[in-house]
Amino acid sequence: DKTAVDNSNIIETNNDACQCKLYAIERGYWKDPYLKILAGSSHHERRTPEISLGYYVRVHGLRYLIEKFIKLTNNQCQIINLGCGFDTTIFYLLDNDNLQFKHFIDMDFDEITELKSNKIRRLSTLHSKLPTENHSLKIPCGFHSSQYTILPVDLRDLSQLDNQFKFLFDNQILDATKPTLFLCECVLIYMSNEHSLNLLKYLTKTFSSCCLFLNFEQINMNDRFGEIMFENLKHRSCHLIGMESCQSKESQCQRYLNANFTSSSCLTLNEYYKKYLNIDEKTRIEKIDGGLDEKELLEQLFEHYCFSWAYRDENNIGLNTITF
Ligand code: SAM
Repeated sequence: DKTAVDNSNIIETNNDACQCKLYAIERGYWKDPYLKILAGSSHHERRTPEISLGYYVRVHGLRYLIEKFIKLTNNQCQIINLGCGFDTTIFYLLDNDNLQFKHFIDMDFDEITELKSNKIRRLSTLHSKLPTENHSLKIPCGFHSSQYTILPVDLRDLSQLDNQFKFLFDNQILDATKPTLFLCECVLIYMSNEHSLNLLKYLTKTFSSCCLFLNFEQINMNDRFGEIMFENLKHRSCHLIGMESCQSKESQCQRYLNANFTSSSCLTLNEYYKKYLNIDEKTRIEKIDGGLDEKELLEQLFEHYCFSWAYRDENNIGLNTITF
């Protein structure tokens, strides 16, 4: 089908994520000097403490598991950030000497990857962080340096994705047999269930020996609160179509097994927040906006987001230990 598809509503969701993150960063929930540089200044639209807490947990939960993966793989891993938006994980890792990796790839629609690539090329605060560029390799679009590459792709188009991976394998930027971490932060929900499943199947086939898929997205969308969230997102013109997999923890886990991952797990944000978040941090962040009047709203919101992850570990390097 060659008809031009308008992805602008999906691309716009990156702006939403950035604005919420920037607001929380400015309020001191966590530190990230790079997002403002990449995304420009924030609109200073007020967000509720619940939303900022949600973003804090999202960023910290993901980073916790990323760090565990990097340490387990002795700093030899590859990381591929699918639907990266203006996410700054690459710069966070580069600032941490004890978090080494082989190569980091950011992928998104070309509208996003072009903007991100141009910003990084233009701004020395960003490109000076990156180990020396490999000038011998010219890439047609996106950005490339010895440890970091940005490439455009529509994740629903597996022949496009396959071409990008072929390019990365042919140029020894990636190795399909090396431990590989896929990050996917609020992305699959914008794709149909069929597209998500096919994408996951493609990844387990291509990186069959050792890969971990780490996902954060909406869940329990079929109850009343979920329906309201869904309606709000629809009003903001987002195409939330990956709904089926976002019904329950079971459907999240089952999707991975259907895509030939050997093991999968899922935790709601409530479970993570209550059981795993450091108590001092919890006290600190709950105070930032003057404390929560009542926890009920937070609990309701946190019941509608989850971390889910799944792996294939044919050489038994211990991916089963990557958990909260
Ligand atoms: N992962 C980033 C974060 O959490 O800050 C951005 C999240 S934003 C809500 C969703 C991102 O997924 C957008 O940047 C969007 O362009 C990207 N995305 C959604 N569907 C995609 C597809 N089919 N192909 C490539 N990127 C896609």
